[in-house]
Amino acid sequence: MAYSYDPQNIFARILRGEIPNKTVIETEHTLAFHDIGPQAPIHVLVIPKGAYVNFDHFATEASAEEIADFTRVAGRVCHMTGAAPGAGGGGYRTISNAGEAGVQEVPHYHLHVLGGRVLGRMLQRQD
Ligand code: AMP
Repeated sequence: MAYSYDPQNIFARILRGEIPNKTVIETEHTLAFHDIGPQAPIHVLVIPKGAYVNFDHFATEASAEEIADFTRVAGRVCHMTGAAPGAGGGGYRTISNAGEAGVQEVPHYHLHVLGGRVLGRMLQRQD
């Protein structure tokens, strides 16, 4: 599958330092920062530094090192924010939206880490 990546998307611009962000963790391959429009008391975005458009692109083409680093950073975010149940928090939800049906706004792969309140059911039923 050929993926097309728009280098002008807002997260690419954050990675190039053209737009500021509130960084939580930065590593060689990954950046985690606070969402600008938080939908819960804890709302952090975890993004790879590589040019991947969504989860399936990242999962298919990223190196094992990038994937391991990304996953470790996401886990550290859960602990650092206090959201992880084992860290005394009440729990969290990770979400990754892709494409039209997933209502993805920014076409650079990102994982939302949400917590700090009861988040409700995963999806609203349509029937
Ligand atoms: P999605 O709908 O999954 O693509 O989510 C995109 C997320 O990016 C939304 O939750 C936005 O609030 C967030 N966002 C957009 N621009 C910025 C920015 N400059 N800094 C931090 N978060 C942003």
